[in-house]
Amino acid sequence: MAPAAIEFSIVLPAHNEAGNIAPIIAELKRLMSRLGRTEIIGIDDGSTDGTLDALRVAADADPMVRYVSFTRNFGHEAAMRAGLRAARGQAVIVMDADFEHPPEVVPQLVEQWRAGFKVVAGQRTDDAAVSRFKRATSKLYYRTLGALGDVQMEPGSADFLLMDRAAVNTINRFESHELFLRGLVRWLGFPIARVTYQPGQRRHGASKYSVGRMVELALTGIAAHSVRPLRAAIWLALTFAALGLLFVVYSIVSFFFVQHTVAGWTSIMAAIAILGAAQLFVLGIIGEYVGRILRETRRRPNYVVAETESDARPSVAAVDQSERMLPAAE
Ligand code: UDP
Ligand code: MG
Repeated sequence: MAPAAIEFSIVLPAHNEAGNIAPIIAELKRLMSRLGRTEIIGIDDGSTDGTLDALRVAADADPMVRYVSFTRNFGHEAAMRAGLRAARGQAVIVMDADFEHPPEVVPQLVEQWRAGFKVVAGQRTDDAAVSRFKRATSKLYYRTLGALGDVQMEPGSADFLLMDRAAVNTINRFESHELFLRGLVRWLGFPIARVTYQPGQRRHGASKYSVGRMVELALTGIAAHSVRPLRAAIWLALTFAALGLLFVVYSIVSFFFVQHTVAGWTSIMAAIAILGAAQLFVLGIIGEYVGRILRETRRRPNYVVAETESDARPSVAAVDQSERMLPAAE
């Protein structure tokens, strides 16, 4: 292996993208041929549709194509992490495999990197091509995250990123199980360049981000970048304690000066209901964080690798066996 020789690594997380693999690799090869020596790394994230076969064929035809195949679906963030670990280039580009991150924007990312930026973030222009729902939720979410957390992100932030080797090495040293890459690259503090792009059309297959998975990612982003919801729980508790105190004063006053203390059923029920709801809400917040702490303490790997291109290339099969199961912790 001659790590220094490769200038660009392009990481393509792919879950059931069989129809997209060959065209996007062809397109990237065409674009990158003018820019510098490139490797393209497909991450097959537990696909069931022949994505792995497409990657095998592509890797067979051209040594610049590599792949990592997971034993099952571990999720987009895990796939990106595997790609960052496998990458050997001086700059690593992470992009979707479905053409929604247009390949022709990659040279613009490279240009900013050559101008000295260690991180270049693709930023979706939120125009009519994106559904109104996605635009609205994205805007609301990044505003909330900015208010709560330790990173500021622009609406339209995406996992379409170029990272310098320095940034990649830093991220690869992170032991945290949880990866919210688009937040992390901003948290690192390297100077960031932004390149706006018009989202392309997914060519084959369907989106895998259901509303449930988007909520999951959104919560990950908040939990990874803020503990303020926990503090909000304290404020909520204080507010209710103050209200409770007022209520006690009111009860005492009415006991001594007004003779209607038996008629307290409604207010007691109201207090129980409101306090009950507030307690459950706070418990929910705590539970969310405790669950994440548990996940971190288990120190399980983020993903398990079943196969890589080197398994199919006997000449470079001298891969350390320990690399086959890349742990979250080094
Ligand atoms: N992806 C993945 N693992 C998953 C889900 C998605 O690697 O569990 C990949 C997917 O193949 C694509 C990218 O992540 O390259 C973005 O996913 P998708 O296009 O489904 O999401 P959307 O663009 O609709 O937000
Ligand atoms: Mg997509």
